[in-house]
Amino acid sequence: MSDVKDLKEKVQREIDKIAPQLIECSDWMADNPEIGLQEFQASARLARMLEESGAEVDRGIAEMPTAFWATLAGSGSERPLIAILAEYDALPDVGHGCGHNIIGNAAVGAGIALSRLGQLGELGELSGKVVVIGTPAEEDAGGKIDILEHGYFDGVDAAIMIHPAPQDLIAPRHLTVHGIEFEFHGKAAHAALDPYQGINALDAVIQTFVNIGLLRQQVRSEARIHGVITHGGGATNVIPIYAACRLDVRSFDVEYAQELKRRVIACAQGAAIATGAKLEWHEYVKPYLSYIPNEALGGVLKANMEALGRTVSHMEEVYGSTDFGNVSQVIPTAYALFGICSEEVGWHSKEVAAATKSERGHAALIAAAKTLAMSTLDLLGDPDLITRARQGHQAAVD
Ligand SMILES: [Zn+2]
Ligand SMILES: [Zn+2]
Repeated sequence: MSDVKDLKEKVQREIDKIAPQLIECSDWMADNPEIGLQEFQASARLARMLEESGAEVDRGIAEMPTAFWATLAGSGSERPLIAILAEYDALPDVGHGCGHNIIGNAAVGAGIALSRLGQLGELGELSGKVVVIGTPAEEDAGGKIDILEHGYFDGVDAAIMIHPAPQDLIAPRHLTVHGIEFEFHGKAAHAALDPYQGINALDAVIQTFVNIGLLRQQVRSEARIHGVITHGGGATNVIPIYAACRLDVRSFDVEYAQELKRRVIACAQGAAIATGAKLEWHEYVKPYLSYIPNEALGGVLKANMEALGRTVSHMEEVYGSTDFGNVSQVIPTAYALFGICSEEVGWHSKEVAAATKSERGHAALIAAAKTLAMSTLDLLGDPDLITRARQGHQAAVD
C-alpha cells in the first residue's frame, strides 16, 4: 500500500542494489561487442537477469533469435501496457560506439527493480502491466520494425527507452531514412588492349555519385544523401564487370523522403543508360520512419531526470534516424538521452565505446535505469497521463 512517491524511492533503492551488476554487464558488453542479430550472448545475459527477478521471458519473438519479451512480476490488469525497450547491438569495427550496452542494461535494470517491487506485492495499488522488450539490430536491420510488424506493439499504450549521447536531452524529431543498394553489371575487357569491348560498371557507380552531387543543390536543406562504394572492381587491368554502392536518403518529412528516394534511383538509372551497364537496385534495409516525440511522455521522463539532478537541454531536432521512429508512428513513445562524453567526440566511434565504461557512462546508466523505472511508475499511477499521451499522438499523426 504505497503511493507513487514512495514507490519511486523504493525503486531507486532497488536499482542502487543492482548497480554493480548492471555496470559489470554493460562493461562486459563493451568488451564483447556483438553486431545486429548476432547479439546471442548479450540478449541471453539480459533476458536471464530479468528472469532471475521474477519476469516471465519469451525468447526469439518476431522470428529473431535475439529478440525477447519479458513480462515483469506483479503485473496487475492488462492495461495500460507500458513497454521499456532494450537495445544491445554493436557496430562492426567500432564495437559499442553507439552505447547500446547502456540502453540494454538501463532497460533491464528498470525491469528488475520494478519486478522486485512486484514480487514484494508493492505494485498492488497500481493498475497495468509492464514489459521489457529486447529489440535487436537497431543499427543495421531495424529489429523494432519486425517486432512492430508481428503485432507486438498492438496493445502497448506507451513505449519508452533511453539512449546515450553527448548531453542530456529528451529526444526531439528524427529523420526518415531509406537505404538503397545499386548494383551495376558491365562487360569485362582488357583495360588497355580492348577497352572499347567493355562496359565499365565502376563508371556507372561514379556517374551515380556525380548525378547525386548535382541533385544535392536542388533538394531541401534538411535532406541528407550519403553513401559508400561497396564494390569497385578487382584489378586495374580489367574493366570492372561488377560495381555496387549503397546510398542513404533522409528527410524529416516521410513523403519528401519517398520523393528523394525516387530521384536518387533516377540518378542511378541515368548512369546506367549513360554507361550501358545493367542496373539492379533494392532497399537493403527497411525504411526507418521519422521519429515523433510524444510531449506528455517526454515530460514524464524529463521530470524524473531533473528529480535525479540531471540538467536536461533542449533541441528542436536530431539529424539521425532510429527504428524507434516506426514505433512512434503507431503508438505514443518517448526516449531520453543521457550524456556520457564530450560534444567533440564523433558519434559511432571507439571513443564512445570507451565512454560507456567511464565514470560518467556508469552514472548515466544508473540514472537512466532509475528514470525508466520512475517514469513507468508515473504512467501506471496516472491514467490521465496515458490519455494525454494518446491524444497528443493522435494529433501528431493526423
Ligand atoms: Zn544507437
Ligand atoms: Zn547508432
